[in-house]
Amino acid sequence: MLLTITTTHIPATDLGYLLHKHPARVQTFALSFGQAHIFYPQVGPECCTAALLLDVDPIKIVRNRRGPAGNAFALQQYVNDRPYVASSFLSVAIAGVFGSALNGKCKDHPHLVDLRMPLQAKVIALPCRGGEPILRRLFEPLGYSLSVKRYTLDEQFSEWGDSDYFTVELQGTQRLSDLLAHLYVLVPVLDDDKHYWVGDEEVAKLLHYGESWLAHHPECELITERYLKHQRHLVNSTLMQLAEEDDPDPEETAARRDEEEAVVEISVGLHRQRLEAVLSALSECGAARVLDLGCGEGKLLSLLLQDGHFTEIVGMDVSHQRLKNAAARLRLDELPDRQRRRITLIQGSLLYRDKRLAGYDAAALTEVIEHLEPSRLDVFERVLFEFAHPASVIVTTPNREYNAQWPGLAAGGFRHRDHRFEWTRAEFQAWAQHVADRYNYTVRFMPIGADVPGVGAPTQMGVFNESDHS
Ligand code: SAH
Repeated sequence: MLLTITTTHIPATDLGYLLHKHPARVQTFALSFGQAHIFYPQVGPECCTAALLLDVDPIKIVRNRRGPAGNAFALQQYVNDRPYVASSFLSVAIAGVFGSALNGKCKDHPHLVDLRMPLQAKVIALPCRGGEPILRRLFEPLGYSLSVKRYTLDEQFSEWGDSDYFTVELQGTQRLSDLLAHLYVLVPVLDDDKHYWVGDEEVAKLLHYGESWLAHHPECELITERYLKHQRHLVNSTLMQLAEEDDPDPEETAARRDEEEAVVEISVGLHRQRLEAVLSALSECGAARVLDLGCGEGKLLSLLLQDGHFTEIVGMDVSHQRLKNAAARLRLDELPDRQRRRITLIQGSLLYRDKRLAGYDAAALTEVIEHLEPSRLDVFERVLFEFAHPASVIVTTPNREYNAQWPGLAAGGFRHRDHRFEWTRAEFQAWAQHVADRYNYTVRFMPIGADVPGVGAPTQMGVFNESDHS
């Protein structure tokens, strides 16, 4: 497995200082699973390339292996791709031999650390589950342009098709420490496998090396999931921390963004109308035990508490901060016992199956779905409609067709900066009908706010009821 890093920054030999490895020498480092050799195939004032050649010893991998040996065929621990491909071994090697550079330290020339320079990284034999689209989705948002070559399984048998192995060249103007951190995190993510068990230590590494970029990466969830080997409890709490780290002052920003949305909507008292519409839809369904998913700061929860028909109320949100604000707004600490017992706030994500959500009469999601990544909607649908499967579901979301009516909203702009999409009525209805058909619900639609001919109302609501025959 070979990683090369090239710069055309002048003088290009600064790369040697940054990597703390002298360009004139070949150096070899022992690692628990083999050896890493560092050398410079090209050294000049205008272009300099450093190479890390990783020589993984298959016997050492087996000896060091912790935990069960996996469930594939008996020889798999000896016969596998690990010695030849870029995987989490590469990350360990990067941290081991380029540790100072990865952590943004440069003893002799500290000013180089923060310098963004033209860099090119080439990884030979990078296994990539999900192929080129995933490669692009992971690296392009970080500012790289990619050139990608996919290998066929066997050149002599072209009918066997393509393999999952690639040679990838990344090109971008980056700090070297950022490039190394991107590779450190994303190489094992692409591989979607790790040679060791993941635990809290891995969470700490992910948060540390992802610190400057992960929280606002559009594939943050995919990266976190794969990096933590899909271990839900770790992924969940990490995503929560990332959501908060994304924002230096989450309380202030959340409040400001909500305010922006509120200013846009204030002229029609839309927020109030929406809450009332949801509340009456919940009552019409005859719901007593209800979920408010993506409850935010608890405006709906506070109305639910005031209505004695709702005997059990659960507010869930992915953001710890918002839940704290909700607890304060609802003055949970001061509620008399009987009231207090009616309401629970839980932290959780709509993107993970959650036993705590099963068996309710109804779930409300007001202005939440548009905060989810469109590529994750199918996961959310299963979590809610298949696994939690409340008897009724009430969803509200902006109607994009109405946006041109808002004074102060830039053409084509969304109402809230965190929105990942805003749907037209036809789009929302098509989605909702598809979900209803698939999971055995019926759905009807209602406008909320002034219904303008040709564009509809500012908010659209879908009310799903479990079909009788389900
Ligand atoms: N329902 C509230 C808040 C809407 S803002 C209201 O109408 O006022 C959207 C909320 O969804 C935020 O509080 C956000 O933290 C939450 N959210 C975003 N992604 C989520 C996810 N994956 N799981 C649970 N909540 C999520």
